[in-house]
This record gives sequence, C-alpha cells and structure tokens, in this order.
Amino acid sequence: MADSFDRRTALRAIFMGAVGAASRKAFGGPWPQDTARVFRWEQLGDGYAGFGAGGNILLWPTSFGAVLVDTKHNGMGASLKREVTALAGEVAAVVVTHHHADHAGGIPTFVDDVPVHAQRRGVGRRIVAGRELKAAFTDGQPPELDRWSADLPSGAADMVRVDLANFARRIQRLDVQSFAANVTFTTDDELDVGNDVVQMHHAGRGHTDNDAWVRLPEANVIHAGDLIFNGFHPFVDVDAGATTVGWQHALSEIAAACDSATVVVPGHGAVTDQAGVQAQWGYFEALRTAVENAIAAGMSRAEVTALTPDVHRGLGGTRGPDNLGIVFDELGG
Ligand SMILES: [Zn+2]
Repeated sequence: MADSFDRRTALRAIFMGAVGAASRKAFGGPWPQDTARVFRWEQLGDGYAGFGAGGNILLWPTSFGAVLVDTKHNGMGASLKREVTALAGEVAAVVVTHHHADHAGGIPTFVDDVPVHAQRRGVGRRIVAGRELKAAFTDGQPPELDRWSADLPSGAADMVRVDLANFARRIQRLDVQSFAANVTFTTDDELDVGNDVVQMHHAGRGHTDNDAWVRLPEANVIHAGDLIFNGFHPFVDVDAGATTVGWQHALSEIAAACDSATVVVPGHGAVTDQAGVQAQWGYFEALRTAVENAIAAGMSRAEVTALTPDVHRGLGGTRGPDNLGIVFDELGG
C-alpha cells in the first residue's frame, strides 16, 4: 500500500500549494482524544474527505457554515452529523450527488434543518426508496445494516448501534418526502453560501439519470460522486437510466474543469486527481473496444461477459462481467 500512501501524500502537497493562501477559515482544533470515530477523515486543505459506511463525502467550510456533499448510507445520518458538527460546526447546506442509498441515505437527518440539494430526477427515486425502506423496517431493523458497525472500534460501533436503533424507532413517523432533497436543480446551480462558490453540475445520464458533480473552483476541488469509482469496477445502474456513453460525456465535462492541481474526490476509492477522471473514461473506452471486437468476431453475450480485458486488471469489486454485458447491449450485440 506504500504506493497509494505516497500518492496521497503527493496529492496533498500539490493541494496545499493550490489553496495554502486561502482566506477561508479552516476547521479548528484537533479531534477530541476520547471520542471514537465512525468515519475516517482525510484532510484536504481547508476541508475533509470522509470514508466508510457509504460513498465518500466532502466536507467544506464556507463563510455561511459547512457544506456537506453526500450523506452516507441509510441510518448513518446521525453518526455523520455528530462527526461533521465536531469537525466543522453547523452544516449550512447539503448536496447529494445521486439517489443511491449509500450517498443519500442520511438525508432524513438533515432535511428538516438545512437545504438539501440534488438533481431533480433524484427526488422521485428517493421517495420510492423511502417507501421501500419504511417497508423493510416494518419487522425491525434490517439485518444488513449491522455491517456498518462490524469493523469499527467498540466505542464507535456502540454509537452506530444506538443511532441505528433510534432511526428504526423514528422511521415509520417519517414522511416519504423526508428521504429526498428539498431543493432541486436541472443542469447547473450554485449554492448561496456567502462569498464561497460551490457549483453543482449535471451532465445527463451517467452512473444514473440524476448524477451531480460538485466543484469548488477557488479551492480547486471536485466531488465526482459515483461518476468515478477509483480502483473498483463501476456500477452502471441501467435500471436508473445509466449509459456508458453518457457517463463518458459527463467525465469529459469533469476533465475540462480539471488542471494538474485539481483534487478529485471519487464516489468510492481513494482521493485522486485528473488521472482518475481519465482512468474512469478509459475504462469504458477499453470495454467498448473489446466488445466491438468480440461482436465483430461473432461472440455471444455469454462469451463477451467472460472476457478479461486488460483494463479489468487490479480492480476491486465483481461488476466486470456485468459491465461487459451492458456495453454489449448498448452496442446492439
Ligand atoms: Zn451510486
């Protein structure tokens, strides 16, 4: 793992050079020694990336309070809010990158108090998800949620169990609207957080039909949501409107906003840079080339999903065969 550590260190050095003179107030003080953490926080200049129990989040200070990008998995909102408040004080606004539960699951904790922004197509999908989650909790807490406390130190695990139990007690009283954003945009929008610029962009269908990527132009930081899986096979959610061609289009827009110093927080995997954007674009390009060649050679869908193109090498997760099949279908194979 020395490579990834060195890479992160190098990225941070680049990043600190980019934002070192920023006038914005950085989050204050060390973490209290006696407080167990549920999430792993990696400092990015004035802000943080947060890892664990769902997709990666970005936490950023502004003159109006902290901006939080994504909210972790179902039931994890209270755990997240506790740590975010300790790191950054009050949250001024939340942006959710898309409707999937591992990014939007914590919305009910925030939505009554602050604006929660999302691309408009995500709202209906979140309401459906809320209805399904309430049904899943009818017989008590779904057992799969136990996984969020499984690998944590005991103090943090205890806090997660209490938070999940509270969520289970509260969920049937929640209106389905509480699972969705309360402010929406269609293509581009900007948060109203004082002098700081926080941009939200939607580039059409990619990982889903409602992906947003978030850009802090002054800090030169981007949260790409699940438009980037760094080091993993991406999940192409065809049922939610995903296309690999649209996904590449979105990545091209992100790449156009990057320079050599841009810090890119992916939806999953380690913090990266413009090379991570290029790598995700190249993944789909390589799959398409492989599948085109396979179709030209007369291979069936089953044969195509059994291929092991070079671009699969070293990636985590199990979606490689699925993604070959999706590209096969897109190409009309
Ligand atoms: Zn996702």
